Amino acid sequence: MSRIGVLALQGDVREHVNILESLDADALEVKKPDELLEIDALILPGGESTTIAKMAVRFGLIEPIRSVIDEGLPVYGTCAGMILLASTISDSDQPVIGALDVVVRRNAYGRQNESFEAPLDVEGLDSPFPGVFIRAPWVEKVGADVEVLAAIDDHPVMVRQGRTLATSFHPELTDDGRIHEMLLELI
Ligand code: GLN
Repeated sequence: MSRIGVLALQGDVREHVNILESLDADALEVKKPDELLEIDALILPGGESTTIAKMAVRFGLIEPIRSVIDEGLPVYGTCAGMILLASTISDSDQPVIGALDVVVRRNAYGRQNESFEAPLDVEGLDSPFPGVFIRAPWVEKVGADVEVLAAIDDHPVMVRQGRTLATSFHPELTDDGRIHEMLLELI
């Protein structure tokens, strides 16, 4: 059975653990660098990226996460997790892991449209995925090795670079496990 780590500093950790367990994967809440060596894939949850980044710096997790990704560990960031993975944030200078060659904009949908749901056509899925967006980022620019798997009005909301996957939306807040299955398939 695959063991999937969920970075457990802040955010919707429990929801990711639940959906992983529903897919018969073993979930491990990761708080320490050593625990990165015990997992087959890693999820960076949604939450508040400034808080998660600050705590990741304090717990010495930024460099170790970057290096396990460099070594090929599959990783999936949702929302704040996508922000943490990005190489550049256009509207903030908070610390990043920088493993995903994209520019993201935090809270890109503004106050009017803070939270919404939209059915999404996702590359590789044969029916729309229920996209749940909460103060979501969008991707403003993608590097040459980044594939766009879903977009809204030309703004990418799901991307993949090698074994790194990121969504602006929150599959862990639905009962649809298909995006988490994509992560499991990268193992
Ligand atoms: N807006 C949040 C941030 O900038 C992300 C929101 C989320 O993860 N739902 O970190």
